[in-house]
Amino acid sequence: MKLYFDSLSKLESFTLNIDCYVDKVECPICSKRGQLVSHGYLYRWVGGILRVVGKRILCAARRGRNGCGSTQSLYIKTDLPRFHYTVVHVCHFFMCLVFLKKSVAESYQLATNCYDSRNAYRWVSKAKNKFSQYRHFLERQSLESTDFTNVASSQLRVLMATIRGLFDKTPCFSPENYHTITQTPFI
Ligand SMILES: [Zn+2]
Repeated sequence: MKLYFDSLSKLESFTLNIDCYVDKVECPICSKRGQLVSHGYLYRWVGGILRVVGKRILCAARRGRNGCGSTQSLYIKTDLPRFHYTVVHVCHFFMCLVFLKKSVAESYQLATNCYDSRNAYRWVSKAKNKFSQYRHFLERQSLESTDFTNVASSQLRVLMATIRGLFDKTPCFSPENYHTITQTPFI
């Protein structure tokens, strides 16, 4: 099932008309078709404003339906699930890291205006976990990791070269477009 949508209106159109897709949309948990119903919005505080970042659908087990009762979250492509910051902050962070070659702490501070950079290392760790997906996305194009001689860890040098490669070698690359193309979170 599609996880990321280009806009809220496209997401709403999908969930509100979900009954029209009886033959197409199946529950990712129980695989039953025709049991999914729209189940409210997902909200998140962004820059002091409570914003809609996605919607939930329910595999309904009541009112004539015999689904499994599980819920599934669907997102607008600008959202990173379970992140305090937005995809814009995360994109800014990685651009400072791989283009300006700032340290992890400096990049985080520039992107978020936050001086406590512990969370930045969590972002880097999440990116490490996505490494093979990034390489797959790049179709294994060769990359120059010697660019990052300022970085002590060879594993991190390769990761940074790979993230830089995503921006350099993919036309119109952005984490949002990554969401749309791969249907998985950027980090
Ligand atoms: Zn189900």
